[in-house]
Amino acid sequence: MMQGHVPYPDEFVKRYREKGYWLDKTLGDDFDEFTGKYKNRVAVSAAGKHVTYSEMAKNVNRLALHFVEKGLRTYDTAILQLPNELEFIYCFFALVKIGVVPIMSLPAHRDAEITFFAQFAGAKAHFMPASFKDFSHQEMSRQARAKAPSLEFGFVSGKGVEPGFISISELLADRIEERIHVESLKRYRPNPMEPGVIQLSGGTTGVPKLIARIHNDYTLNYRGIAKEINVTKDTVTGIAIPVNHNFALACPGVLGTLYHGGRVVLIPTPRNDVVLQAIQNEKITLMPTPPALLIRWMEDPDLARYDISSLEWVIAGGARLNAEVAKKIKPVLGCNYFQNLGMAEGMAFWSRPGDDEDLLLNSQGAPLFDDDEIRIVDENERDVPYGERGELLVRGPNTIRGYFNAPEYNKKAFTADGFYRTGDVVRFYKGRYVSVEGRIKDTINRGAEKISAEEVENHILAHPKVENCAFIAMPDHVLGEKGCAFVLTRDSRSLTLDELNKFLKEERNIATFKLPERLELVTSFPMTNVGKIDKKELRRIIAEKLKKEEGRS
Ligand code: AMP
Repeated sequence: MMQGHVPYPDEFVKRYREKGYWLDKTLGDDFDEFTGKYKNRVAVSAAGKHVTYSEMAKNVNRLALHFVEKGLRTYDTAILQLPNELEFIYCFFALVKIGVVPIMSLPAHRDAEITFFAQFAGAKAHFMPASFKDFSHQEMSRQARAKAPSLEFGFVSGKGVEPGFISISELLADRIEERIHVESLKRYRPNPMEPGVIQLSGGTTGVPKLIARIHNDYTLNYRGIAKEINVTKDTVTGIAIPVNHNFALACPGVLGTLYHGGRVVLIPTPRNDVVLQAIQNEKITLMPTPPALLIRWMEDPDLARYDISSLEWVIAGGARLNAEVAKKIKPVLGCNYFQNLGMAEGMAFWSRPGDDEDLLLNSQGAPLFDDDEIRIVDENERDVPYGERGELLVRGPNTIRGYFNAPEYNKKAFTADGFYRTGDVVRFYKGRYVSVEGRIKDTINRGAEKISAEEVENHILAHPKVENCAFIAMPDHVLGEKGCAFVLTRDSRSLTLDELNKFLKEERNIATFKLPERLELVTSFPMTNVGKIDKKELRRIIAEKLKKEEGRS
């Protein structure tokens, strides 16, 4: 068994198998099955290339053989930081076929995150682009390798591979299958009860939490969602958010689409013109998108220049879809929408085709499976009366039972009987449909990208001028929320946002999306009666200030 993984209790394993949720198939088994079935259909379109299922299988098997030959082994971990490009697809499937567990890192992650993943999970390989947004991932990887000796290999996509790194294109050009039989890969097939993919949680603590999803649960995840929202071989799914995210990869995303013989279109950036052009050119029918992107498309003055009539459904998830925005989707974009309350920990709530308007506007959906158990509880963990607000607790066949290698934290994040405490405040809306009312976890949801307040605060506190700080969410019309840092400086010294962010970027090497977008210098903090900084009050203060500023502008 992979060390650090929290298994499901035996009675649940038995139940989930007996009820047909878990089929004891691996991600690689599914891959072999759908590539065998849909051979000459186009599986993935990216950067003007259209790759069939058979070509994809050939490339994936070739890479898997190379990975084995280099020394990667079942249950090793590898940081997969490739962007929305074909190499991502090839490397992802090649890794999972031989049971190497990819850690689904974002291209935006920087040294602080990458070194942490490498050290924490003992990652053996790092997959990265040669060039992406003027940043040298290879330089960063060299630094990470100096601090994390487990990182033996650096695999690089694209042109400009530096000495000491392995070119993925060169591996793809080398027909290793003529020397080593593809059948030999069977030896590396993982156990479906073991982790297949590690997703990341924005988390609420100083460091991100790793979410190890086993093959049985992850295959169920995309199978279940794809079935519920009627994905077929005619589905063309456009991925404009980072493909590494659970939402893009498996809800139903890349995996659910390919499972049914559909086509995946990888879009390299979420920029409006690129996305709208891709919808037009590739005749995309389904798009997972955070509300922030929907708002940008709908407000784009050039929207009418594009023919986006192929678009049938958008899936709004990752952050609350405002009802006023939801009402405009059909009239402005001409398509229908699903609401999705999802989490990389597993459980997903969905609206369903045919839901009435009230349900669709006001609820984030109902769970997928009969065996998805949901509780809504008060601060003493007692179930609240139906319809009242409380914290959402979840347990089910695609929900983890604990974070990877985090026994102490797991005691807080999960109940004694295995329910995941989501930190989301919800209420039952109708039947098993819920509506999200807020959250009690200390995160910032920036356009669906989650940022742990504590993680950023720890970095801010390292600044020599900072005595104390609080990192909180401030409202934003498009992104929903942005991060605002309230800082008390030592001896009332001056500090600017640029100065702070230069430090966070250059000295602390954190991902740009986590940087504060506003700095408020204070001389004292409002405190709660248990002696903590009163963040609720800070959120109120900044919201009010923003409103006033808006009024003036
Ligand atoms: P992630 O694992 O990054 O997908 O983050 C999961 C968290 O995102 C959830 O626990 C919620 O806090 C938030 N979230 C996801 N979808 C929604 C939604 N439709 N409405 C409100 N919050 C959401």
